[in-house]
Amino acid sequence: MFNLILFGPPGSGKGTQSEKLISKYGLKHLSTGDLLRSEIARQTPLGLAVKSLMARGELVPDEIVIEMINSALDNNPQANGFLFDGFPRTNAQAEALDKLLNQKNTEIAIVLALQVSEQELIDRLLKRGLTSDRVDDRNEEVISARIAEYEKKTAAVAEHYRKYDKVKYVNGEGTIDEIFDLLCEQIDKKLKLA
Ligand code: ADP
Repeated sequence: MFNLILFGPPGSGKGTQSEKLISKYGLKHLSTGDLLRSEIARQTPLGLAVKSLMARGELVPDEIVIEMINSALDNNPQANGFLFDGFPRTNAQAEALDKLLNQKNTEIAIVLALQVSEQELIDRLLKRGLTSDRVDDRNEEVISARIAEYEKKTAAVAEHYRKYDKVKYVNGEGTIDEIFDLLCEQIDKKLKLA
């Protein structure tokens, strides 16, 4: 199994690059943002519980996302590997993920961290807000709240994996294909060592 985390602030291009990576490497994409938005769209009790938090740009409680990931892992026993996108976002989530993977005799192989300047992030998200149906991309206050949550709670997750020397930083500014090539280079290097 080859499991990777695509890491980076909101607007760093995780969703776009995830689609390309899962198709090249045959991985199962697990995006907690997508899973939560699907709960909201289906108006499930979980969706109703998280809707307003997400619209404000705040994080959803750890227990909820950890349980969602736990079920997703159980529901995909045949997967060659997982690409985690938007998860883990706190140290508690990272510790829980390590434990869940450990129970399945596997682990995170690599954390690819996309680096993008804050002004570029805001520009990209506001632009996406013009065409997407995501309510959290529509105003600058909510976008700033998401970036602040990232800095306050999520940036530390890179530290967690740095201890195990798993983090590779990749320039997230450039064309989609340029960034994809940089990500593939890191993955291929890791696969060769495996
Ligand atoms: P982005 O990274 O572009 O903000 P996501 O789709 O990853 O977009 O997440 C959207 C929102 O979903 C977050 O602002 C947060 O409210 C919620 N969310 C997604 N993943 C998590 C997570 N792992 N922990 C807590 N909240 C999450």
